[in-house]
Amino acid sequence: MKYPPLKNYINGKQVAASSQKTLEVVSPIDGSLLSTVPLSTAKDLNDAVQAAQEAFPEWSRRPIKERVQVFFKYKTLLERDLNALAALVQEENGKTLGEAVAEVEKCIELTEFATSLPQLVSGEVLEVSKGVECRTEHVPLGVVASIVPFNFPAMVPNWTIPNAIALGNCMIMKPSEKVPLSCIKIAELLKEAGLPDGVFNIVNGDVEIVNAICDHPAIEAVSFVGSTKVAKIVYQRATHNYKRALALGGAKNHLMVLPDAKEDMTAANVVASMSGCAGQRCMAASAMVGVGNVDHIIDKIVTEAKKVVPGVNLGAVINKESKERIERYIAEAEKDGAKILVDGRGAKVEGKENGTYVGPTVIDFVKPQMSVAKEEIFGPVISIMRTNTIDEALEIENANPYGNAASVFTQNGGLARYIIDHASAGMIGVNVGVPVPREPFSFGGWNESKFGVGDITGKSSIEFWTKLKKSTTKWNPEAGVNWMS
Ligand code: NAD
Repeated sequence: MKYPPLKNYINGKQVAASSQKTLEVVSPIDGSLLSTVPLSTAKDLNDAVQAAQEAFPEWSRRPIKERVQVFFKYKTLLERDLNALAALVQEENGKTLGEAVAEVEKCIELTEFATSLPQLVSGEVLEVSKGVECRTEHVPLGVVASIVPFNFPAMVPNWTIPNAIALGNCMIMKPSEKVPLSCIKIAELLKEAGLPDGVFNIVNGDVEIVNAICDHPAIEAVSFVGSTKVAKIVYQRATHNYKRALALGGAKNHLMVLPDAKEDMTAANVVASMSGCAGQRCMAASAMVGVGNVDHIIDKIVTEAKKVVPGVNLGAVINKESKERIERYIAEAEKDGAKILVDGRGAKVEGKENGTYVGPTVIDFVKPQMSVAKEEIFGPVISIMRTNTIDEALEIENANPYGNAASVFTQNGGLARYIIDHASAGMIGVNVGVPVPREPFSFGGWNESKFGVGDITGKSSIEFWTKLKKSTTKWNPEAGVNWMS
């Protein structure tokens, strides 16, 4: 085992979980055992919540300009340790080193945004009648929790950590049990940056801890990122317990390609979007709808896809079950009559025979009712459907229950605008394969890709992580009619 068994992180220290139960943390790159992760219990969560509750009064009373100083420092530490953190991300998640570096760079951008929060959260004040002022302030909630998935071991935790904590909250993080190593490194960097003990805590585990978080009376808000199935469970359970909740779910993102699209650029973008991070991004292109004759572009997509080589510029998928699930989808499409133009099944990387790789896969002549057209595959697979009109393409996109992202490739501004207006998705790209809005714009889908109000990052997150205090003051004795009392 490469690393010692993992512990929880409570009140600034690594502490053993109360249960002896553990899971193995295995590298998808070569199947090697990295560590073990404890399956913590409600008692461990209680300890973490208590530490967070104790840290909250002092932390939340600091002015925000003082709180963000920790994040200026954290940003420089992320820059200093970029390669070390990226190596850890790569090791536990299986993505390529370039993708892991980009992930840590995104953490830096997210932190940079948090350092600008003092400029964004100033409240409002107005003299509402002679000598009487109304004023609003953003007040932190208290102890909050963040539950995260396996596909971005560093970035998704950093969607919530810098903003929620800079805004004055204390946090319990529940990492994915598949990739729990990066979070401990993040905790160490936060401590080195000067974050007081107890403000950020990690409780490792699985369903039991997630349920305990949703039920804990002292946790005010829960953010969740993961599959739609679990997002629904968490949203329902947390709100049933009167907590504020925001739960981001799965996705099935459609790229609509029009015949006038620039061939080379479109093909490169489609392939990068479907195969980047081995297709394990909630923003990955999973379905393409060719409108009219786009055979010339599909030919280029095939050429581009063949340049994507497992173990070279394509990472592994998270585990054996994922590999089997993805390969099952491809087999089912073939059986249902679709044409496999590039087949990633059975991919092997020399010297890494226990790694879990799936090669890039391009499936053509997919029908909207096939499972590869409807369901989230979460692998480097693109399912191509064909329509005669843009409205038919939009009908396919809009019939899908998810609504994270959609993109259009065209040179026609009017048609692009029509698709922006009519696609039912929270994030739209025009000639962009992965339309992630960069800070200060916020990240969040629609429909079954997100449950709750507002978005998880950017300016929108301010509303989620704070509550508004409204005060009305009158100090002037000549303030005129006392119209409220
Ligand atoms: P997942 O839903 O299996 O797990 C997410 C978290 O929930 C983990 O911490 C896990 O321990 C916990 N969990 C799992 N099953 C649970 C259950 N039954 N009850 C309570 N908690 C449970 O997701 P994953 O496989 O880790 O991540 C992949 C999924 O996440 C994909 O569907 C992907 O689209 C989605 N995702 C969405 C976004 C977004 O922004 N919408 C971003 C990243 C990933």
